[in-house]
Amino acid sequence: MAAYYNNETLIYRDGAFVKAAEAKMDLYSQSLHYGYSVFEGIRSYRTVSGETRIFRAEEHYDRLQRSAEALNLPYHWNTEELIRATYQLLEKNNQQDAYIRPIVYGPANMSFSVNTESFIAIQTWEMSPFLGNKALRVFTSSFQRPNPKAFNMQAKAAGHYVNSIMASQEAKAKGFDEALLTDLDGFVAEGPGANVFVEKDGQLFTPSLGHILPGLTRKTVLELCTQLGITVTEKKISLEELKSADTAFFCGTAAETVGWSGIDETVFPLKWEDSLSYVVQKAYLATVTERSLDEAKNLLARKMEAVV
Ligand code: PMP
Repeated sequence: MAAYYNNETLIYRDGAFVKAAEAKMDLYSQSLHYGYSVFEGIRSYRTVSGETRIFRAEEHYDRLQRSAEALNLPYHWNTEELIRATYQLLEKNNQQDAYIRPIVYGPANMSFSVNTESFIAIQTWEMSPFLGNKALRVFTSSFQRPNPKAFNMQAKAAGHYVNSIMASQEAKAKGFDEALLTDLDGFVAEGPGANVFVEKDGQLFTPSLGHILPGLTRKTVLELCTQLGITVTEKKISLEELKSADTAFFCGTAAETVGWSGIDETVFPLKWEDSLSYVVQKAYLATVTERSLDEAKNLLARKMEAVV
């Protein structure tokens, strides 16, 4: 397992900075027993100017609040104070390129009753930006995403991730790199921890909202496509459509954007470097590190010339 912390690492815990190695939680917590907690996955980057920047910090902490409210977990913090605490924590831990994991959890409570109390912890660990392409072999999972009437799919709730873990483990046991989950009607939904984009004939497509976590990276990709002039459509995507795609990629805070080499037995025909998705990948990495989009725009212009 990865070493997330050492004896010096600090975490933010209910208003104070404490050593990760010494922090304790109640084993009678309702969150531990029933997966009843909410969390975020955020990233900070060393930008081109050398500063530390938490990417879309406000939107991540606002989503944390909405997730807590959706689950009736008391939420008595505000986004501004949590962002300030996170920057302080990164500085204390001497981290710039980091993964940030806030979690809100409940007290000792073995019943299903609503709590009056809840707690927050923010953990950070080093994570460098991903600069290559792993070209994932993806497996269509036998596990589907939960029925949105059984779970609030907008909420980033810990319990939902049992489904993700099962799917990811199944894919790896079958010799693939990652899983793709469908929704309960069999349409493409998302990965265990990332959204999906599909490229076909010079256009991008992504599953519409409803059965998926509305990812902030997905939102960023949609915005970048608009800025770059790449046509992108949100719609229901069947597995047949996916299998006839030119290429596809996952996107998420941790994954950033990562291309697929194929799905199940299908190998995608388009080389990653030749795809528009590759331009989007370049644009995404520029955005998070606050570089200009010039490189991505030039790349796109050269591709367009090649087509004409
Ligand atoms: N779907 C799921 C199930 C996820 O866990 C994540 C990661 N948070 C995403 C999509 C992507 O969300 P974001 O871009 O906000 O990280």
